[in-house]
Amino acid sequence: MKKVSIKIATLGDKKHFDGLDEVIKIKSSIIDFWPTIETHQFSCLPDEEWGYSARAISHFAPGRDDEDILILVAGFPIEENYILKRVGDSRIILTSFEVNSILKRDRIRFSNLVARYCYSVSLMYLCKGESLLSPDGDWTRYAHADTRGCLFDMTPHKDDIAVSCDRPIICDECQARLRSRGVQQRTLEIASSEIYYNIRKSLYWSAVDFAERHPVAAFVVATLWGLTVGVSASILAALLT
Ligand SMILES: [Zn+2]
Repeated sequence: MKKVSIKIATLGDKKHFDGLDEVIKIKSSIIDFWPTIETHQFSCLPDEEWGYSARAISHFAPGRDDEDILILVAGFPIEENYILKRVGDSRIILTSFEVNSILKRDRIRFSNLVARYCYSVSLMYLCKGESLLSPDGDWTRYAHADTRGCLFDMTPHKDDIAVSCDRPIICDECQARLRSRGVQQRTLEIASSEIYYNIRKSLYWSAVDFAERHPVAAFVVATLWGLTVGVSASILAALLT
């Protein structure tokens, strides 16, 4: 199976974007990540109050090289306050504006969002027929307005974005749509498995969430763990004396 090659580049300093280096280290059977992240400076003024239109970005953003998809990561507002926009020639602009604070509130790293979109645009790239990655491609037919924790959640309310950034799925409806556009069932199975394991909260924050939702169970687990460690230490001390 030919992989989709993706390059990630930042518009502005990379240090503003949490964990991007971890995204390009993802071992995937679907995506071939470029081994480095490029950084591009820009100096032109916003054309939409404090943000940029897709048209403006298409002019000042770097062009694509040999990669199939170029994902540009920025921190400024983009047209109509979208999280993601297609700017032509299989280039995607993705912004951390507002979503970064939403993700932080839900203890999810920004890199999860980037990885989520890497998978969704790769599957769209594999669709046969019109290019869904062109600015004119009708992407709305390949997403749904309701939030299901799916790669293709539209998330019209940005507050919902965290749902699909922690063990996302590809819902049955989206799988059927992708199959009808030529994406192989095996590819969908691999993608579903990879997003489940590669896009998730850290173990630490998952444990904190569990403790907050189930304080009694967390107390019991912690107590049993403490007892186990104590007993094991006693046995070990007895054996060594
Ligand atoms: Zn879906």
